[in-house]
Amino acid sequence: MPLGTLPAMSVWTELGDRVFVRRYAFYDQNIVAVRGDDGFLIVDTRVSHRQADEILSDLRELGSQPVRAVINTHGHNDHAFGNHRFRPASIWGHARCARMVRDTGTAQIAKVAAAIPGLADELAEVVLDPPDRTFDGDSTTVEFDAGGRAIELRYLGRGHTDNDIAVVIPDANVLLAGDLVENGAPPYFGDGFPIDWPVTVERMVELATGAVVPGHGDVGDRAFVVRSMVEIREIAELAVLVHGGTISLEDAILRTAYPADAAREPIERALAQLRGELD
Ligand SMILES: [Zn+2]
Repeated sequence: MPLGTLPAMSVWTELGDRVFVRRYAFYDQNIVAVRGDDGFLIVDTRVSHRQADEILSDLRELGSQPVRAVINTHGHNDHAFGNHRFRPASIWGHARCARMVRDTGTAQIAKVAAAIPGLADELAEVVLDPPDRTFDGDSTTVEFDAGGRAIELRYLGRGHTDNDIAVVIPDANVLLAGDLVENGAPPYFGDGFPIDWPVTVERMVELATGAVVPGHGDVGDRAFVVRSMVEIREIAELAVLVHGGTISLEDAILRTAYPADAAREPIERALAQLRGELD
């Protein structure tokens, strides 16, 4: 989405016991900090070292403890390319998130630098530093003392990428959804699996018992997750109709919940998946 179209919250907002969200104007992105007994856990690290340093500086408003653990919700640049500034913290993520950072990181940097030339200098400083605490199954528990609470990482299936995870903080009743859902703009489908995506978000609905923090945009709730699921399912269903020859691509684009100029990529990506081109 265009930068700065929504006002950023310039403060940490406590959503649940010692679970704080801060909304940055760049990409309208949400960063979450959990204050534990001997330090902080940070979820997602922004696009560059300078942006990561901004998180570290803002974190001082919450206390002087070090960052002990970091979680990457997936391997996109704005969620993982500030990682290196948080070492020696352990960095958690899905195994394919680590692979995505490793294998596509340089290409992601080139793409963002081409789209936003003013960011090229700071992107050139990025040291790619993929998660070292990875898991490949359905879930894992982060080794971090979050004030006596367990923090769970759940892999729910392919969606926005093949490595999105949801972060569940049960006692605070907070769910961090990464980019599986976005508030205020259609999510990015360019690396997505639109046929699987609605099923993945459906699995997330039951986890959404309280506040739901998307990777970008307003904090929502279960109804927001359901709404997102319906919109993404519509993309998959329209693509099936195009694939079967029932309607044209142009008709499908006009029938989604998204603005027409934002609907082409999702439908085309879904068609590519239906043609078997993504496996
Ligand atoms: Zn993303």
